[in-house]
Amino acid sequence: MRILVSGAGMAGLSTGITLGAAGHNVTIVERATHLRVNGSPIDIRGEALTVADKMGVLDAIRDHRVDMSERIQFVDAAGATIAELSDAEFNDSPDDTEIPREDLARVLRDALGPATTLTFDDSIAELHDDGDGVDVRFASGKHGRYDIVVGADGMHSATRGLVFGPENQFIRHLGFYVALANLPNCAQPDRRNPMYNIPGRMAGIAAYRDKALGVFMFRSPWIDYDYHDLAAQKQLLVDAFAGHHEWKIPELLGAAVSEPELYFDSVSQIQMPTWHQGRVVLVGDSAYCASPLSGRGTSLAMTGAWLLAEALRDNSHDIVAAFDQYEREHLPHVTYAQGTAGPGGDGLVPATQQEIDARNRRLSALTP
Ligand SMILES: Cc1cc2nc3c(=O)[nH]c(=O)nc-3n(C[C@H](O)[C@H](O)[C@H](O)COP(=O)(O)OP(=O)(O)OC[C@H]3O[C@@H](n4cnc5c(N)ncnc54)[C@H](O)[C@@H]3O)c2cc1C
Repeated sequence: MRILVSGAGMAGLSTGITLGAAGHNVTIVERATHLRVNGSPIDIRGEALTVADKMGVLDAIRDHRVDMSERIQFVDAAGATIAELSDAEFNDSPDDTEIPREDLARVLRDALGPATTLTFDDSIAELHDDGDGVDVRFASGKHGRYDIVVGADGMHSATRGLVFGPENQFIRHLGFYVALANLPNCAQPDRRNPMYNIPGRMAGIAAYRDKALGVFMFRSPWIDYDYHDLAAQKQLLVDAFAGHHEWKIPELLGAAVSEPELYFDSVSQIQMPTWHQGRVVLVGDSAYCASPLSGRGTSLAMTGAWLLAEALRDNSHDIVAAFDQYEREHLPHVTYAQGTAGPGGDGLVPATQQEIDARNRRLSALTP
């Protein structure tokens, strides 16, 4: 089949690998001009490790593994540690594998087979599914006809918008925003993971290898802004920490404002009654984002790509039956992952000073 995949994130690249390996002719179209390699290291866990093995990328993933097991240290305004969070609070099993997002993106891209083409700087502008195929008009003006279109274009999926309607029907905001910025001048922080809280906000540093990232989280009701407007996102972040000059907040915000690829998003989940309609199917965050608080978004994306390819193999003459099988087999993983995201935010970003103090007392009692 001729298959179009929208988005070259972890879901889109994994789908390119699995469907290309199954003998389909796959085109991945990515809106950005390049592979988006920013973000913090991500976990591959559970069934996704088996999937990575079947995809032929597990050894490469293990080669790029980083050890993020160093505890998060909650610090006071002077930088002294007041409580520590053990990695046991994050990991399911010692097999969990953490890999820099940039390395995983490159490992997956390099594993794309000859049947898969990766195109940048373009996106689906319009699609029409006539039952026998899908006609696509791209933003570049090009046209194509495909047997299947896979929307793997993230939490704010444009494919989902075109086929299933507005995002607000499916998004469940968990009450936080998150931002990540490279800290080019902080290669050797004195601590690996210091985090500083003020009520409803957290700013910190996450370091791995010779890299350091500024990490921000803040509580906020849903904010309407243009996802493509980086300056607006930077302003929202600066406004969230306005008036706070303690610890390293000004330095971290300065790095975020200068960051050309700042990652900023709401901490939200996508919940849909179904992930497919006609010849269009969704994979990854576009269909079932679990939020960064779950630590399972990439695992879900890789497993989903694998199950979709298997379902199309098992139902080669019935696309609807294949999509139904994919959904049926993946839903338990999604339900579990989304269920794990609930309480994490309260521990990282307590709402009040009393809650910060109570969290610190609880953690101190647990620390040997
Ligand atoms: C730059 C970036 C940094 C991230 N950093 C973190 C992090 O630090 N921690 C964390 O927990 N999660 C992070 N995430 C989210 C995480 O990658 C996903 O939750 C998970 O890997 C599932 O991936 P996905 O491919 O479904 O979605 P995504 O990773 O969001 O990938 C979607 C891809 O689709 C592309 N795209 C968007 N719209 C269109 C369009 N209209 N047409 C074509 N392409 C489009 C995007 O540019 C992106 O490459 C990040 C995502 C991105 C894009």
